Amino acid sequence: MTDITSLANSIPEQALQQVRFEDFGLSPDILRALSDQGYVHPTPIQAQAIPVVLRGRDVMGAAQTGTGKTAGFSLPIIQRLLAHASSSASPARHPVRALILTPTRELADQVADNVKAYSRHTPLRSTVVFGGIDMAPQTAALRSGVEIVIATPGRLLDHVQQKTINLSQTQILVMDEADRMLDMGFLPDLQRIINLLPKQRQNLMFSATFSPEIKKLAASFLTDPQTIEVARSNATADNVTQILYKVEDDEKRDAVSFIIRERGLKQVIVFSNTKIGASRLAVHMVKQGVKASAIHGDKSQSERMAALDAFKRGEVEVLVATDVAARGLDIAELPCVINFDLPHSAEDYVHRIGRTGRAGAKGDAISLHSDRDERYLADIEKLIKQKIVRVHLAGFVATSAHPAERRPRTERERGERGGERADRAERPARSYNPPKEKIDPWFSKPYEPSTVSVPASSAPAPKSGSAGKPQRKAALLGGFSKG
Ligand code: AMP
Repeated sequence: MTDITSLANSIPEQALQQVRFEDFGLSPDILRALSDQGYVHPTPIQAQAIPVVLRGRDVMGAAQTGTGKTAGFSLPIIQRLLAHASSSASPARHPVRALILTPTRELADQVADNVKAYSRHTPLRSTVVFGGIDMAPQTAALRSGVEIVIATPGRLLDHVQQKTINLSQTQILVMDEADRMLDMGFLPDLQRIINLLPKQRQNLMFSATFSPEIKKLAASFLTDPQTIEVARSNATADNVTQILYKVEDDEKRDAVSFIIRERGLKQVIVFSNTKIGASRLAVHMVKQGVKASAIHGDKSQSERMAALDAFKRGEVEVLVATDVAARGLDIAELPCVINFDLPHSAEDYVHRIGRTGRAGAKGDAISLHSDRDERYLADIEKLIKQKIVRVHLAGFVATSAHPAERRPRTERERGERGGERADRAERPARSYNPPKEKIDPWFSKPYEPSTVSVPASSAPAPKSGSAGKPQRKAALLGGFSKG
């Protein structure tokens, strides 16, 4: 297998502006759908992936979320399947020809929305299957015949077992966010699924990172893949301003609310390392008058969808998310992300801050850290090859910390990477009862910074100048929420 080389970087920005979707020989029905979406020029991953996928080659794509990779693989898939498109109502004329696997329900749903939008003027049919909801409507959709199925692995295997899906005519397999699928323990499921498919097929694999395990998986099922990369892995976007506020552990929750209020943030994702931490933080913020909601693997599917839709509509201003839950969210051009906890994996830091500053827009990535985070911080700075500026959060007064919170956090609360392993499609929801908080006035005394002091609203060189300026609204999938 070829090493990943940065092909995208070899396409000059100006040249990319000249490329149009018409140049790929896509059908007028697809072009019309793209025009409906308001797409004019392909993104770098699309410019590279579309011709390669159209030629029928296997692809190993290194692309992060927000690069437009979904259209990069789905447009040429739709084009290729058009040769088999049938306007017949008979299910037999609509066998499953393309299978797109995603790690999370949210990503499956978003990819499915995109595929539906891009194929809306064609006779091709598509559907999505994921766990946590009733199988019956999915079964009905599968039985009526669909050429493109978007699925999470667990629920797909349930359908295989129930014989409600037949994969024997699948010509194209896509593994989206393959690294996340491995992180979530889906490898055995993926292998079972691959074994159910015809040997002769086109394979596309997309992953934000390329660990040895991912390369091994790729080597096991891709044939002579064309490697495509749009951004150097682990590079952080130049247009994202990174700031570190040093805050005591027990003051972090108040600090987040303070930053959000000070900056007037209206759409922000706050990252927590743990599901329980995300829930607690969201509850705490709501008590402080911030419109917040948590989204993580212990939430039921309908709760997660409701939180996401409310966020897209602007009814929820702050989504508190774990890495796994956030990874599948298609929320582009977020003006700001906040790391409530520093991630214990430096790569996760890169993913998190990649949620902002997309497509050349400016973004702010704010991280809270305490002395105990130094080790993780060192790893992050090593990976991104830059020192993040550390400042005190002037003007901030913690009000609700209490002695019980001064205890060292447990392993579970500190959030080990495996903490989201159970964030599987079929996992039942658990309810969370936040502890009652008592406030000790001792902890309400003003915070006294000992070194440099920079207010939240005038942090060092915030290139994007969030303070005082109106916040950008996130541009969402297809531009609009489903409501
Ligand atoms: P993705 O990385 O596939 O999740 O796409 C990120 C966002 O970019 C989605 O909201 C897409 O609708 C949008 N998008 C994808 N391709 C284009 C394009 N060529 N022009 C404008 N927006 C796009």
